[in-house]
Amino acid sequence: MKVHHLNCATLCPYAGRLIGSDVGLFDRGRMICHCLVIESSDGLVLVDTGVGMGAVRDANRHLGRLFTTFMGGGVESETALRRIEALGLSPSDVRHIVVTHLDLDHAGGIPDFPAATVHVHADEHRAAMERRTSNERRRYRTAHWAHGPNWDLLSAGGDRWLGFESVRALPGVEPEVLLVPLHGHTRGHCAVAVRSGDRWLLHCGDAYFWHEEKLIEGARCPIGLAIFQSAMAVDRKARDHNVERIRELVRDHSSDVSVFCAHDTHELAAFD
Ligand SMILES: [Zn+2]
Repeated sequence: MKVHHLNCATLCPYAGRLIGSDVGLFDRGRMICHCLVIESSDGLVLVDTGVGMGAVRDANRHLGRLFTTFMGGGVESETALRRIEALGLSPSDVRHIVVTHLDLDHAGGIPDFPAATVHVHADEHRAAMERRTSNERRRYRTAHWAHGPNWDLLSAGGDRWLGFESVRALPGVEPEVLLVPLHGHTRGHCAVAVRSGDRWLLHCGDAYFWHEEKLIEGARCPIGLAIFQSAMAVDRKARDHNVERIRELVRDHSSDVSVFCAHDTHELAAFD
């Protein structure tokens, strides 16, 4: 059983210094899309998918003009598909995809694995299918599920796990993979917990964006990131509460759990 940490898309927003990149004020910064590939008892499990091959071939359709203008597009060698091949693994062995949420930079790789079952919280699936607000019409791209994925929708009523509630496990998959509801960034956003030896990994998706947020109460998140995550949260109070809960988890269980989010370069580098 092995867990691979991969960057499945590099996003390059303008004014990089404002998002914490060590560049000039007017240079583009660097954010990554931290994904996991788990060699499980039931084939490969992919946790989040980056932007995918669609973004390389047709960025406007898969990412939208606004996103590509401010963040850039995809690079083929960084897609989950090519990353898995580079590991010497077969993309056709991806049996399960677990997504923290269905924003375009997390769901974009779904069409590259059409045979996989896509596990997602039912509230997130509903939000992405309904696309009720203009923000949701931008962040959720119908191209990412136009092929009709085999959805597995998880909802409330699961177990407790380290103080978190309604936690659902992927049935029949070893090591354990859990979907941990942390709604706020989107209507059904979740973290994904993965048993790794005698420890857990907790992929927090976009529950927070800057590594110090999980460690220090009132940590100064770079201003560009602070504005971005506030603007993108459908429920800011819930988002702030989630960060508090993550901070408690890091404080109380640092010997049992490694915590990281989707876009922080420092956190990915720690797994090199
Ligand atoms: Zn994201």
